[in-house]
Amino acid sequence: MLEQQQEFFEEISQNARNSFYIDGDWAKPSSAEIFELVAPATEEIQIKVPAGAIEDISRAVDAARRAFDNGPWPRKTFAERSVYLRRIAAEMRKREHLFKRLWPAQIGAPIWWAEAFLGRIPEYFDFYADLGEQMPQYEIRLTALGSAKVIQESVGVCALIVPWNSPYILLVQKLAPALLAGCTVVVKPSPETPFEALLMAECAEAAGVPPGVLNVVTAGREVGDWLVRSTSVDKVSFTGSTAVGKHIAKVCADRVARVSLELGGKSAAIFCDDADLSLWRDTVAPFMIPLSGQACFSQTRVLVSRRRRKDVVDALVQAMSSMPLGDPWDPNTIFGPLVSAAQRERVVGYMELGKKEGAKIALGGGPVSSINRGFFVEPTVFYGVTNDMRIAREEIFGPVISVIEYEDEDDAIRIANDSDFGLSGTIFSEDMARAENMATRIRTGNIGINTLQIDPVAPFGGFKQSGIGREAGKEGLQQYLEAKAIFFPAA
Ligand code: NAD
Repeated sequence: MLEQQQEFFEEISQNARNSFYIDGDWAKPSSAEIFELVAPATEEIQIKVPAGAIEDISRAVDAARRAFDNGPWPRKTFAERSVYLRRIAAEMRKREHLFKRLWPAQIGAPIWWAEAFLGRIPEYFDFYADLGEQMPQYEIRLTALGSAKVIQESVGVCALIVPWNSPYILLVQKLAPALLAGCTVVVKPSPETPFEALLMAECAEAAGVPPGVLNVVTAGREVGDWLVRSTSVDKVSFTGSTAVGKHIAKVCADRVARVSLELGGKSAAIFCDDADLSLWRDTVAPFMIPLSGQACFSQTRVLVSRRRRKDVVDALVQAMSSMPLGDPWDPNTIFGPLVSAAQRERVVGYMELGKKEGAKIALGGGPVSSINRGFFVEPTVFYGVTNDMRIAREEIFGPVISVIEYEDEDDAIRIANDSDFGLSGTIFSEDMARAENMATRIRTGNIGINTLQIDPVAPFGGFKQSGIGREAGKEGLQQYLEAKAIFFPAA
């Protein structure tokens, strides 16, 4: 497995392996600092990549500032920028085989997930290209004393900061609308997953995007912190933990910089008494806790009435235990390892906490003893959980489901809403009208009825501590625009 991974990294260009992308050029790192990428399935170091320093990110910010203030990009029309977006989508499709294999190689995400989802990611660029072709450049509105021409300008230089769990989609959800809006950007990928952003730089370069519009520097927290504090950055778009998101929001508030945040979740799946469990098992079950629960929209609280609790727990156990766990390169594997030793320790810590809090175990509950290397933990189902337990309130970011009983429909909605988070949710019922009514009462940005989806056309994002702002859809473009009114006297 490891040989396969090392050979794979050799398919990545020398530029992407050894440099950053700054001002339209592959830039030599300013220091000899490196990050070691550890294969989560083998615990072995597989590749070393340059670690960005403040000097590197500062050059990237200067390049983005110059390209915004003096370059052609913000001055093009939406339709002109759409042409570049289409070219980028074509370049992404040419590299599909690399993007797909980066996921297992860097974080141990099973190749099954990559094959199932990553081929569609260029559609975000197609979607925004379509939107750009239809966008009016301005709108004239009559005023009491004459008229106002309302235009949508780019917000400016953007810092795009992404986490390691789904680095390709999470970056593209930001990059496509930011570029359509005419922004220039500095991307800071996570140290664990540098390559998606660097491949996107290759795509932009091949598509002829002008220098300075897209810059990429792989870096850790300290350099990320410098980036969000830079007064040359007009907007920060951040995806990551709620703790770091709160910190970034405070930093941005100080200079009233624009900020949008995609943060954590503790989403509830409500099983109504008429839920069709076999339909759920066939269509939704594998997506409840994707990437071994390392996905922000994981449905980690399962709400069920006392009457159907046993049926639902049995169905969960049957579904989770029948999904293959192990080698992420095996095309049948659904549960891969967690990203790191620290993440495994954290998740096992929560499993122990659940036991101490009095929850009962229906499945799993610890590290995987049958595999002697890799950061594997058992898919775990707790029942007898109450919503005040920490395992029901905190984001675990591992394959841990808490089953909580409700009294009736109102109680189910009360429990679903009794959370600091408000990202996603699902309702399983045969009565669509009833389920839709319940969906309107749940305080989350996304909710699926007998389904779980993410799509370029629909907004994604959170209520409450799950974030501020939306990505994807036409709402995602608004995050990168400023409205300006130019007034004229009556003719
Ligand atoms: P994290 O918050 O530790 O890091 C996210 C990114 O921020 C990384 O690139 C990191 O280097 C950078 N960073 C950390 N501290 C920083 C600072 N002070 N200033 C600037 N940048 C800083 O999160 P993580 O562990 O990488 O990712 C997991 C978290 O992301 C989970 O909480 C998950 O729910 C969340 N997430 C949310 C969404 C969403 O769309 N809502 C999607 C995926 C993941």
